[in-house]
Amino acid sequence: MKLYNIKENDEQVSFGQAVRQGLGRNQGLFFPSSLPSFDDIDALLDEDFVSRSSKILSALIGDELSKEQVSTLVEAAFQFPAPLNKVKDGVYALELFHGPTLAFKDFGGRFMAQSLAAVSNGGKITILTATSGDTGAAVAHAFYGMQDINVVILYPKGKISPLQEKLFCTLGKNIHTVAVDGDFDACQALVKQAFDDAQLRQDVGLNSANSINISRLMAQICYYFEAAAQLSKQERENLVISVPSGNFGNLTAGLLAKALGLPVKRFIAATNANDTVPRYLETGKWDPKPTVATTSNAMDVSQPNNWPRIEELCRIKDWGLETLGKGAVSDEQSAQSVKELFELGYLCEPHGAIAYRVLDEQLQAGETGLFLCTAHPAKFKEVVDDILGENIELPAPLAKHAAMELLSQDLNNDFEALKAVLYQVQ
Ligand SMILES: *Cc1c(COP(=O)(O)O)cnc(C)c1O
Repeated sequence: MKLYNIKENDEQVSFGQAVRQGLGRNQGLFFPSSLPSFDDIDALLDEDFVSRSSKILSALIGDELSKEQVSTLVEAAFQFPAPLNKVKDGVYALELFHGPTLAFKDFGGRFMAQSLAAVSNGGKITILTATSGDTGAAVAHAFYGMQDINVVILYPKGKISPLQEKLFCTLGKNIHTVAVDGDFDACQALVKQAFDDAQLRQDVGLNSANSINISRLMAQICYYFEAAAQLSKQERENLVISVPSGNFGNLTAGLLAKALGLPVKRFIAATNANDTVPRYLETGKWDPKPTVATTSNAMDVSQPNNWPRIEELCRIKDWGLETLGKGAVSDEQSAQSVKELFELGYLCEPHGAIAYRVLDEQLQAGETGLFLCTAHPAKFKEVVDDILGENIELPAPLAKHAAMELLSQDLNNDFEALKAVLYQVQ
């Protein structure tokens, strides 16, 4: 597999390099130089999730890893299903929250962890990342128990929800969690300082495993195929998929699935009040505003960092950006949709409800609609309870961690102190 840097096209890397490096020169994103295409999609869709995903990823990766190696990675990464749930006639929820941290980021995070181990050539790796909550949990669980990989996760002390903290600060083994005396920006600044320290980077094999890693998107392509596989041939003829979007990795993966041959009539980019992309698609002007806090906080992003990949893909495939559906949803509207879905017998949290709402508004006769449910409702229990006047139950994985002891260490907002931690965990 060859990839190039979107910003500096002469930088070309292999799959292994792209996974290890994350970003290219000048903060450029990597993009595949060529994409395979599957001509017998029906046969592909007939296979089970793991074998089909192995085929797709093996075709993408090419001969850098053997088919058997890819299958092993996929088996280790995809240990939970992505079921469709019918909400009403012609409308389905794609549930991506059956992994260990109850959000779709488990798919990308786990495949990235497996890929990184596969391409690391036995070198020492320390994953260092800052989190304001969810990504930290997905990274921690994805790398948990892996040999020769240490994970250090910084988070702002007292500024993430107690339940979120329990989900990733109770693991132990190779997962080291650090509560920093400062806010999220302070955590990010410490991480940046560490990556700027060449000696440290080399000594401990620093890697960011961050959200723009191409391996994440590759994994996410697979659940779009899995969704289509659960529909009848007739239903998938006029398929419309609505994606609740923040950094737009999820939508990028959907469009890549289409580029590989998955028949999708239309994608819809659904956002909350952070509506840079819907406004851009409307006016042609890229005009990000300050980020605002919403009840769908995993989508509180006003400068989505995967957007250049979408532009690049649409340019290559000659897909006009106007073919993308779009919509921005306020907190009031998403709350209404959570209620409406509940009345239809479906419990959903605000991120999924935003995708549902825009889909429901724009779905036309004869089309089958699918909206992505990116998190388990219990992950946003406070908001959901508040909207519905219910007391929803914690699913087993959350309940289990809620009862465990916190293993985090406290840290002053001080680079030397962080450095000491990074050497000490080796
Ligand atoms: C990260 C996240 C999103 C946004 O996904 P992107 O790929 O960044 O667009 C949506 N919902 C939830 C629950 C998330 O955690």
